[in-house]
Amino acid sequence: MVTIEEALRSIQDQKISLKSESKPLNEALGYALSTNTTAPFDVPEFDNSAMDGYALCGLYQEYRLVGEVAAGDSKEVSLQDGEAVRIFTGAKVPQNTTAVMMQEKTSAKDKTLLLDEMPKTGQNIRKKGGQLTEGQAVFEKRHVLNPPSLALMGSLGLSQLDVFSKPQVNIITTGNELVKPGEPKTEGQIYESNSYAISGALQQFGFQHHQKTQIQDDFEATKAGIKTALDSCDVLIISGGISVGDYDFVKQSLEENGVNELFYKVFQKPGKPLYFGRKGNQFVFALPGNPASSLTCFYVYVLPLLQKLSGYENVGLTTYQFPIKHGYENRFGRPSFLKAAIVEGKVEILDGQGSSMIQSMAKGNALAFVDDGEVLKEGDLVRCKLI
Ligand code: AMP
Ligand code: MG
Repeated sequence: MVTIEEALRSIQDQKISLKSESKPLNEALGYALSTNTTAPFDVPEFDNSAMDGYALCGLYQEYRLVGEVAAGDSKEVSLQDGEAVRIFTGAKVPQNTTAVMMQEKTSAKDKTLLLDEMPKTGQNIRKKGGQLTEGQAVFEKRHVLNPPSLALMGSLGLSQLDVFSKPQVNIITTGNELVKPGEPKTEGQIYESNSYAISGALQQFGFQHHQKTQIQDDFEATKAGIKTALDSCDVLIISGGISVGDYDFVKQSLEENGVNELFYKVFQKPGKPLYFGRKGNQFVFALPGNPASSLTCFYVYVLPLLQKLSGYENVGLTTYQFPIKHGYENRFGRPSFLKAAIVEGKVEILDGQGSSMIQSMAKGNALAFVDDGEVLKEGDLVRCKLI
């Protein structure tokens, strides 16, 4: 048995080699860049108007109106002292523009423009290079692409990005009692649900599974199922069959498939019978079958590995501290990831902390970490991961 810290360190310390690939811009969300990026040109590339209004030459309150420039116009316009042109947001400002006045502060009659106030030099002009100058560092390698990053890369004209590949994931669920939702079931059977939680959590963080297999509680079937799954993945996530029951064949089947154990059993609640192993460059997590344990272990342990394999520098869910709404004492005898709800800045530990209780987890939005024996008074800070 290892502690939570030892288990997390074992995952973080794995030596891995990252693969890279080129991704179209519209498929690159959530990938980490595999090269540094510099600006190929100034952004903006030309002085342009921040407003719909008038481009002015010189500082006056009355101008001669001499024309119009719209966004996208490429004709060269040049102003003389005392002249103004109608201009629109994003349009290139004419040569000799001193300022742009927003249209709400103007009145135009025939060829005369009157301003409600004196303009100021440079007002409402977005300067060439105001965001980035040519050659400037934009992103370091390993930057994880969020939506504004995609916009920035697009504005640099880049349509293909060099990124680190994401791992290929396969899922195996085990259990004679499991029936696929939508299919008829008999007495003693239950619907298989863990794979939906896992594939949902994968999608939540920009991953997806490649293959999903349901296996009966049989040693030969488990061994064969693991062998097949290992043929086509970087990370294999198994649910159930890793405990100490007579029908738990996963651990032995992993050994027979040449997977080396890195840790088995973590001193925590839920999710004590968690297994982590490695075969060459492939990794295996065997998650306890109880639904809340399995998903909790995904968030705490599997996610950091998937992100590390994707080239992320910061992995796992961020821990935030929130004051607890009511006093709480952890009497479970193990450090616990508790199903919790953060409402209006306060954390409430939910009823239904059992390892099988997915309904409380489904209604909450966080895992609150409370140490073994820890006693919390109302208002004490609790470390929470938002799920
Ligand atoms: P196990 O870890 O295989 O001993 O399973 C522990 C508990 O979790 C049992 O009550 C199982 O029926 C349940 N369980 C295991 N796998 C799943 C699954 N994929 N979906 C829903 N419940 C499961
Ligand atoms: Mg089972």
